Amino acid sequence: MVSKQILIVEDEKPIRDMIAFGLRRAGFEVLEAQDCATARCCVADHFPDLMLVDWMLPDSSGLELTRWMKKQSDTREMPVIMLTARAEEEDKIRGLEGGADDYVTKPFSPRELLARINAVLRRAKGGDDEGGLVAEGLVVDPAGHRVRADGVEVSLGPTEFRLLSFFMAHQERVYSRSQLLDRVWGGNVYVEERTVDVHIRRLRKALEQKGYDRFIQTVRGAGYRFSTQTG
Ligand code: CA
Repeated sequence: MVSKQILIVEDEKPIRDMIAFGLRRAGFEVLEAQDCATARCCVADHFPDLMLVDWMLPDSSGLELTRWMKKQSDTREMPVIMLTARAEEEDKIRGLEGGADDYVTKPFSPRELLARINAVLRRAKGGDDEGGLVAEGLVVDPAGHRVRADGVEVSLGPTEFRLLSFFMAHQERVYSRSQLLDRVWGGNVYVEERTVDVHIRRLRKALEQKGYDRFIQTVRGAGYRFSTQTG
C-alpha cells in the first residue's frame, strides 16, 4: 500500500514537529509548510491526500486558505482538518462553513488527531461499504427507500429518509445546520435553520425503539453528526 501524504500547515515549529513525528510513526508521508504561500505551492507540487491547517498563520488565516482550496476545482475534494486554539462556537461554525471537513481544538492528543485523520480519509475515499448504508443493525436501502432497524422496518417521512441517508453516507462528520440545509434540502432559501432541528427530532424519535437514535449526535455549537461511537 502506498502511504498517504499529509500536509501540515502550521507556523509553530515545535507543534509541527510533534504532529509530523506522530504521523510518520503511523506510516504517513509528511509534508510541512509554515505559511499559506508555502502551503499553496506544496499543494500544487504534491497534491497531498489531506491537509492539516492551523487557524492562525503569519501571512493569511488558515480559514482563508481552506476557503481558497474549496473554491478551486482541483483541490475542492482535498480533505482539510483545521487545527484551532479557538474553542469558541462561532469559530467552529465558521471553520466548517469555510469548507473544513473537521476541526481539532488545541491542545489535542496525537491519538485523537490520528483518529480524526483516519475518519476523514475513509470518508474521502467514498466509503468502504458503498453497496448499502449500514451502521450496526441500522440499514438504509436507498433504491428501495426502506430503513430497517435490527430487521424491523422503520417508517420515515421523506425528509427524515433523506437526512438519514445523507448522514449514513457521511458518517463521523460534523455538519452545521446550514450545511445540512444545503446538502439535504438542496439550498431552499425559505427553510429556516430551526427546521433542521425539527426533522432531527423526528428522525431520532423514529429510531428510538431500537436505540439507534444514539447515532444522531448533537455537537454543541457546531451541528450534528452521525456516529456509531459515543460522542
Ligand atoms: Ca499558528
